[in-house]
Amino acid sequence: MLERADFLEAMAPVLQWVNTYLQSIEKYPVKSQVAPNAIYQALPASLPRAPESIAQILKDLEEIILPGITHWQHPNFHAYFPANSSIESVLGELITAAIGAQCMIWETSPAAAELEERLMEWIRDAIGLPADFEGCIQDTASSATITAILTAREVKTDFQANEMGVPPNLRVYCSTETHSSIEKGVKICGIGSRNVVKIPVDEQQRMIPELLEKHIQADVAKGYLPTCVVAAIGTTSTVAVDPLPAIAAICKRYQVWLHIDAAYAGNALFLPEYQWMIEGAEYADSFVFNPHKWLFTNFDCSAYFVKNAEALIKTFEILPEYLKTKTRGQVNDYRDWGIPLGRRFRALKLWFVLRSYGLEGLQQKLRKHIELNHFFAEQIAQHPDLELISKPFLNFTCFRINPKNGDYNEHQLNQLNEDLINRLNQSGKAYLTHTKINGQYVIRIIFGQTYIEKRHVENVFQLIVNHTKELLGTHS
Ligand code: PLP
Repeated sequence: MLERADFLEAMAPVLQWVNTYLQSIEKYPVKSQVAPNAIYQALPASLPRAPESIAQILKDLEEIILPGITHWQHPNFHAYFPANSSIESVLGELITAAIGAQCMIWETSPAAAELEERLMEWIRDAIGLPADFEGCIQDTASSATITAILTAREVKTDFQANEMGVPPNLRVYCSTETHSSIEKGVKICGIGSRNVVKIPVDEQQRMIPELLEKHIQADVAKGYLPTCVVAAIGTTSTVAVDPLPAIAAICKRYQVWLHIDAAYAGNALFLPEYQWMIEGAEYADSFVFNPHKWLFTNFDCSAYFVKNAEALIKTFEILPEYLKTKTRGQVNDYRDWGIPLGRRFRALKLWFVLRSYGLEGLQQKLRKHIELNHFFAEQIAQHPDLELISKPFLNFTCFRINPKNGDYNEHQLNQLNEDLINRLNQSGKAYLTHTKINGQYVIRIIFGQTYIEKRHVENVFQLIVNHTKELLGTHS
């Protein structure tokens, strides 16, 4: 058991450990190679009775825990979307833990509330959201989307759903490609997954606005209440960008809440050359993106913006006696801006990142990742056994094995590509994931790790080529 006076001495080996980890992260297999239950079995069955030393805990961290870690900060982590971190973020997080504030209301830490308010303004202005949006930090895009759907539900029902229960005729619209968190959110909001209307997409996986309007019209005719449309800026599978201006016009026409889920690709809005993605956002009601995905700020940190903060607060507000304060109304009490009462001081790590990078540093890093992706995609396009599935976009590319001189049917190609991913991931040298587009099994790759260099891109390309060669050898 440590006392405050022990901090420096106890911290020394921990700092050493973190430093060694960060410097030598590339020696670890990117994807954990442990068998199911191995870590669980290696842990003692009960709480230790006697105090144990930090040295003992660090030893077990190395021996028991580390083998079961997938190294998200490894430069060859190319799976899902990244959850990148940075030295600045780690420093901020350390201080957050030391301060240990629970920032539910302004009075429980005025600086936490006001820093959050200010940072959300910086970000709103930097990414080109209109000035009438106000923001707060949420844990995840999933929670932010639930927050948006709940507010839309209350606005549509004149705040009656909160009091009387949810009517069965509310409808939420999104494309067939939107993230699963939308349907999950609709279920949690009591609207019912049957009331999620999935709008078909075009050949570039973008929502077709004409079909959205047709569905809304048909629903209105049947007595449904169109409540919320969720548009995606950067779908999970292929980073498709829904046509916002057309969708926004429809939402305005039918008075439907428009929520924009830009969880990942929203980070690119710091670059003026990607501002086109947000055209039409002036008609949106809410917007979310995750600095914890591609803004060098470790998980969790999700930036949620809303135009009508009053409606948001009215949706969530509840005022037991013990939370009444004299400052109410003069300041932001963020407990009323989302689901939980308790809130972490997430703004601090973001502040460290935003200040240490500055807008120019953020832009430089984002552009570097985008350039690396283009470099990778060129190599894929030139290789006779590999096929680019779509043009590289941001730091994301989709490809598959498809030999130009081969005679493989789609089923065989799917199997080859699945085998390729398995081999790559089992090698421990890189981690990639897949998706299916029109029945084709394709491989997704993302270059979003904070400290990635060109050599890491060359390495993963060579790895792909080598395993492809081996696979085609065994399959021919
Ligand atoms: N929306 C999109 C487009 C996503 O890609 C993801 C996750 O990858 C989410 C929402 C969910 O994000 P979170 O994990 O922050 O809830």
